[in-house]
Amino acid sequence: MASGLFIGGRWLDHGTRVANINPSDTLDPLGDYNWGTVADVEAAVAAARAAQPGWAAVLPEARARLLRRVGDELLARADELGRLMAREQGKTVREGRGEVIRSGEIFHFFAGETVRNHGVFTPGLREGFTITVSQEPVGVIGVITPWNLPLSIPAWKIAPALAYGNTVVFKPSELTPDCAFVLTDMLERAGVPAGVFNLVMGNGRDLGPALIDGCDAITFTGSGPTGAAVVAATAGQMKKVQAELGGKSGLVIDKTCELDLAVEVAFQGAFHGTGQRCTASSRIIVLDAVRDAFLDKLLKRMADSRIGHALEEATEIGPVVDQRQLDKDLGYIDIARTEGGEVLGGGSVLERPHAGFYLAPCLIATTNNGARINQEEVFGPVASVLAAHDLDEAIAIANDVHYALSSGICTTDLIAAETFRSRSRAAMVTVNAPTAGLDFHVPFGGRAPSGYGPREQGIAAREFYCEYKSTYVNVSGHL
Ligand code: NDP
Repeated sequence: MASGLFIGGRWLDHGTRVANINPSDTLDPLGDYNWGTVADVEAAVAAARAAQPGWAAVLPEARARLLRRVGDELLARADELGRLMAREQGKTVREGRGEVIRSGEIFHFFAGETVRNHGVFTPGLREGFTITVSQEPVGVIGVITPWNLPLSIPAWKIAPALAYGNTVVFKPSELTPDCAFVLTDMLERAGVPAGVFNLVMGNGRDLGPALIDGCDAITFTGSGPTGAAVVAATAGQMKKVQAELGGKSGLVIDKTCELDLAVEVAFQGAFHGTGQRCTASSRIIVLDAVRDAFLDKLLKRMADSRIGHALEEATEIGPVVDQRQLDKDLGYIDIARTEGGEVLGGGSVLERPHAGFYLAPCLIATTNNGARINQEEVFGPVASVLAAHDLDEAIAIANDVHYALSSGICTTDLIAAETFRSRSRAAMVTVNAPTAGLDFHVPFGGRAPSGYGPREQGIAAREFYCEYKSTYVNVSGHL
């Protein structure tokens, strides 16, 4: 597999060598890769800028064919790349395969969108005037992504950027370089013209400012503090920005819920992906009437879960991504204890035959929704449980958090479901389904401070990757 930096259609192999570790087994590293410099970012931006007018002029169907080829290859290689992702990021093979397939489908979706970029034709307000409203590419897009969804987040940013005629400089997370190399290699072989897509590797703090200075717009997914810094820097230069940030999603377990389904929804929502999902169901709010029965079953489900090497097919929960994240998870469990929380199950570091970052999924009972464990994003397999007397109280608790990304309810009561949907502050709501693992053909993203700027995915993506142009034509012969 090609690796390095990809700038102006050429792979470059220079810079500082950095190890790429396997979180399931630190004795099985994936190899070393290169970190580039600010000068590389500047070269990538220059290449993207030079290529942009030509790419925008390419016929939509030709852009579609290229995206379709990438989508086809992702789908065809789902098994192999799912395993690569499992080895590099630590999600299970099953989750990895699912993410590769989803990424392929996203490329197919935006291949279709290239020829569906319709505008508006309308009579003007003055005699003899007509107006067309069309959408144009923004220019050079800087794409900055995290490590938790190392293919699908890049896919849902890069595919629409290219579909609508923009060029791209991509800066993935330093923890998941191989996924970025694979995608770049595919784009190159699919025929992306030199400069249209560029990859720069390296530390975000060092490369971020040059990317922001050089690009016309930045699409960012990552943590709140980094996102705030990116938004501030782009605002200072009046650049377009889209930031998808953290979450603290509340999942309500209503008294009418179908218990086994609710347990599985909570388990998967909180712990699949090792809880490393912005939309993870990290606060589980249980109505008193079902609390004991629900917790008994959930704790049993957690105790029975298979936590282990991400490449083993039977594994349900893989390792935490690295030592830093593991320390953060354990730190939050301690904080919860000192704030009066009671660990009901899990929370200990697990020994496995391989030297990895294994943590038993942890459930913490708390009574104070203001506690840090209920207000701050952990981004690990750590969830809290809160009690509510009735639905009103449960909704109030679910909304009492500054994040506003996703929320959910398990219920068989239609009125409870609709009441929850309409009163939830979150931008995405699920009923009888985990708050994480959402579809790509509808808008995705959070209200501030979980998100900033236009939403991602589906046709909503056009808002960010295009600019409106309104053209007035006067055929009256006079004014
Ligand atoms: P970070 O914010 O640490 O990093 C995200 C990206 O930003 C990385 O590529 C990082 O580079 C880069 N970066 C770091 N500093 C800067 C900077 N000063 N300027 C520009 N870029 C910078 O997030 P994580 O990678 O740790 O990802 C986890 C976070 O992502 C969680 O908070 C999670 O909620 C959020 N997330 C949000 C989603 C959403 O859609 N709402 C979806 C998935 C995750 P590098 O790491 O290489 O240094």
